[in-house]
Amino acid sequence: MSIRLHSEGAAGEVTGSKHVLTVDGARCLVDCGAFQGKREATDKKNRALVSDPESIASVILTHAHYDHCGLLPLLSKRGYRGNIYATPATRDLAGVVMMDSAAIQARDAEYLAKQAARKGEAFTWKPLYDEDDVIAATGQFVTVSYNRPMPIGDGMKVELFDAGHILGSAIAYVHARDRSGREVAIAFTGDLGRKGKPIIRDPSPIPPADYIVLESTYGDRLHESSDDALSKLADAVNRTVSRGGKIVIPAFAIERTQELIFYFHVLADKGLIPEVPIWVDSPMAINATSIFQVHPECYDRETHEAFIKHHENPFGFNSLHFSSSVEDSKRLNDYRGPAVIISADGMCEAGRIQHHLIHTISESANTLLIVGYMAANTLGRRLRDREGEVRIHGDIYKVRAEIEEINAFSAHADYQEAWDWLSGLDLERLKKVFLVHGEAAGLAGMQSFLRKKGIKEVQIVAQGERYDL
Ligand SMILES: [Zn+2]
Repeated sequence: MSIRLHSEGAAGEVTGSKHVLTVDGARCLVDCGAFQGKREATDKKNRALVSDPESIASVILTHAHYDHCGLLPLLSKRGYRGNIYATPATRDLAGVVMMDSAAIQARDAEYLAKQAARKGEAFTWKPLYDEDDVIAATGQFVTVSYNRPMPIGDGMKVELFDAGHILGSAIAYVHARDRSGREVAIAFTGDLGRKGKPIIRDPSPIPPADYIVLESTYGDRLHESSDDALSKLADAVNRTVSRGGKIVIPAFAIERTQELIFYFHVLADKGLIPEVPIWVDSPMAINATSIFQVHPECYDRETHEAFIKHHENPFGFNSLHFSSSVEDSKRLNDYRGPAVIISADGMCEAGRIQHHLIHTISESANTLLIVGYMAANTLGRRLRDREGEVRIHGDIYKVRAEIEEINAFSAHADYQEAWDWLSGLDLERLKKVFLVHGEAAGLAGMQSFLRKKGIKEVQIVAQGERYDL
């Protein structure tokens, strides 16, 4: 008779989320995310997956980010036939994310095969999974709305609470009972969001838990206040439009793009920005936006007040245009006059954003607006660091556009915000907090912060280590 926890990803790092709750030998997997980072090393880690997928009892998915859902198709391909529990919005968004990954992997395989052929080398790399595996995994979802307790097998029950991170994101509150009748309540925060984010609700409180598995991405950092995102956005647009320039915004297709659309809609409604065309130029962002539109059950009260009450669509207004075809995208390059262009990917490493940069980055009238994290060694980081010239598609471009940064958009709670959530709970029953989803500094920062706040037992989870509950 035993109840145990261990992690096979996002332990001591921020990607590859996979946490396993084992009750009398039956395993429940919380998230099945892909590792991201240096290609060869992560490929190997992703292929290792988890042992005996066919004997896993159940899977819970907290939200649709790739580092949480990205390996579900591989799990399915390796023999998992059970249910995948998630909110309806997470199921829909995860479908887009997983399908996008299958398409990217297929293109990578083609490209690498050609390269190898040119060099006369043997080529053996295969995608982790293909579109059929994505379809199979999508067919295994069982959707559970927020606050609807759901039995998920012998002695286990899950209830999903809003995590306030991205559309559909959930804290998984799992109730487990072993054969001896011992009961344990354990909450997995997934990625914990922040108060006051547009569109979605704030992180929800949860019932008393014995254990909380807490993410620690920003365990050693505090964010800028999100209050002035709107005015900074308006300033950047007004300044650029007065110069007759374009505002180019690299943004990931899910959440950040919809937040920007939402903010631009608010600014346009209030007359705080001039009427200029706003283009969303990313097929995946367009798909994701249509999913946002059909999940009003995830919106916060402000979104209802501002739009739904007035029978308005928060993600559609006169100046907003979507371009899905390559021809549309190219036409944008020839467009003269002020405009806003939102395109992916968020770190400028691939995708249509690179074409927009080629056409705008060397003119001082234009603005490159950075609204997300730019990892080291990416084109986005070089631009953020205001390097004088950058290489795109093999050519060198002088950087003369204004580079402006708004840091208020983060989707992860910092340590103070995590504490604001945690300290609002009934902690009487709490025995231990397990820390995951952080780099060494974040984990150590969160651990010492929580101890200072009076939580004695704070365990940094080590990859593969088993913890008895
Ligand atoms: Zn996330």
